[in-house]
Amino acid sequence: MPDWLIPVLVSPFVGSFLGVLVQRLPVDDTVVFGRSRCEACGKALGPLELIPLVSFLVLRGRCRQCQVRIARFYPAVELAALGVTVWAASLDDGLRLWADCVLGWVLLALAWIDARHMILPDILTLPLALAGLGLPLVMDAGRIVDHAVGAVIGWLVFWAVGRLYRAVRGRDGLGEGDAKLLAASGAWVTWAGLGPVMLIAALTGLVWSVIDRLRGYGLTGATAIPFGPPLALATWLVWLYAAL
Ligand SMILES: [Zn+2]
Repeated sequence: MPDWLIPVLVSPFVGSFLGVLVQRLPVDDTVVFGRSRCEACGKALGPLELIPLVSFLVLRGRCRQCQVRIARFYPAVELAALGVTVWAASLDDGLRLWADCVLGWVLLALAWIDARHMILPDILTLPLALAGLGLPLVMDAGRIVDHAVGAVIGWLVFWAVGRLYRAVRGRDGLGEGDAKLLAASGAWVTWAGLGPVMLIAALTGLVWSVIDRLRGYGLTGATAIPFGPPLALATWLVWLYAAL
């Protein structure tokens, strides 16, 4: 059995769960695994309709009972989670592949939540940081200090930049959530990867804000650009491609 088979098979289900997290975490609702009913009419879904992605194809995007169009959001997250897995499987196998998937899935949820709601929930960033610190237990043995120092420096850098920004501009530019995400990032890519992560994140953020301005948003400079998505992307790229 190839290493990628199980991760690929479970990722649409993980994506389905991530979709629930993205929808409900910011509004502090109860998080339950997956959907079991149509959100419009409440019709209980059948077995085939409970399978991520497949259900969307089977139902052709509409509820069988009320014909209401099923939100594209869920299949989009499910597809994105599958994309993360396929991307990782093209590079890695074994334990490393699972580590890739866990990192990629959590980063995906964080980026999505931050893009929509401008928050990075502790319930995702803190366990991600802990997982990074725990990496030397399963792989990368003997480098626990590198991972721990990465987490501490990641947090300190953002905390310092945030203070500086507030002192200069007189308002908050970077959130506590960003500091925790960079700490998690440092825990994964170690202190050695933090420089590349910040460089890529800053460049990506810059491109994003330029595009935003070109589209007519953010003209005042007071419009906040969420930093979570660029940071998540940068962490993912450095983890996958930089040999640290
Ligand atoms: Zn319905």
